[in-house]
Amino acid sequence: MTTAVTYQYWKSNSEAFSCDDQTKGARKVLEWAYHHYPSEKLVYASSFGAEAIVLIDLIYEVQHDAHIVFLDTGLHFPETYEVIDKIETRFHSLKIERIVPKLSLDEQTKEYGSVLWNRDSSRCCQIRKVIPLQEALNTKEAWISGLRKEQSPLRADTEFINKDEKFKNIKICPLIHWTWEDVWMYIKERDLPYNRLHDQQYPSIGCLPCTKPAAGNKDSREGRWSGSSKTECGLHTR
Ligand code: SF4
Repeated sequence: MTTAVTYQYWKSNSEAFSCDDQTKGARKVLEWAYHHYPSEKLVYASSFGAEAIVLIDLIYEVQHDAHIVFLDTGLHFPETYEVIDKIETRFHSLKIERIVPKLSLDEQTKEYGSVLWNRDSSRCCQIRKVIPLQEALNTKEAWISGLRKEQSPLRADTEFINKDEKFKNIKICPLIHWTWEDVWMYIKERDLPYNRLHDQQYPSIGCLPCTKPAAGNKDSREGRWSGSSKTECGLHTR
């Protein structure tokens, strides 16, 4: 089914995804997605942050061998790699793939100079995140993301099923109606492993050079590219 046809199908069947169940529609959306797409055509691009832990647990209930990709920029916190190891142990039948950019960090330094993230973070994200995801999605029809509407004004108009013009794909976002409190209640109730940095004032965790602890103003994206106007790495912008 083409992207346009799938999107039209969703638009005309959107009432099927009622959000009045305990998961605010997330489980139904995932059941639909894994029924609708062959498993090799659907992938979850995971950051392994708090939302990701919830999503992995929900996905596992629906598709034990789901394909998950992690964009391994080579610049993540040790705590992030630790939580991936724990998730792999707990959900061992999931296919978790770590995708690395074509340019190693040394090659990036040779080509663009050192600490590119400080001088041109958009180019750095393009090399280490956007292009690797584009390549991973070339053989897929749809991808899953943990975006929530309340995370930021840019994410507020996200729907369960979205036409993704950037990656010429369908982007499925099961957690759009979840609050930050919902995420943490679920993690605690299910006793799920999570990134220890969340206990140290990091609500959103990306690459080490571009993530700082939050000052505590309840912005769940606070601390990312702190001191600059950048709020997204380019995966979710058109
Ligand atoms: S978040 Fe920072 S270090 Fe990571 S890819 Fe983007 S600019 Fe580079």
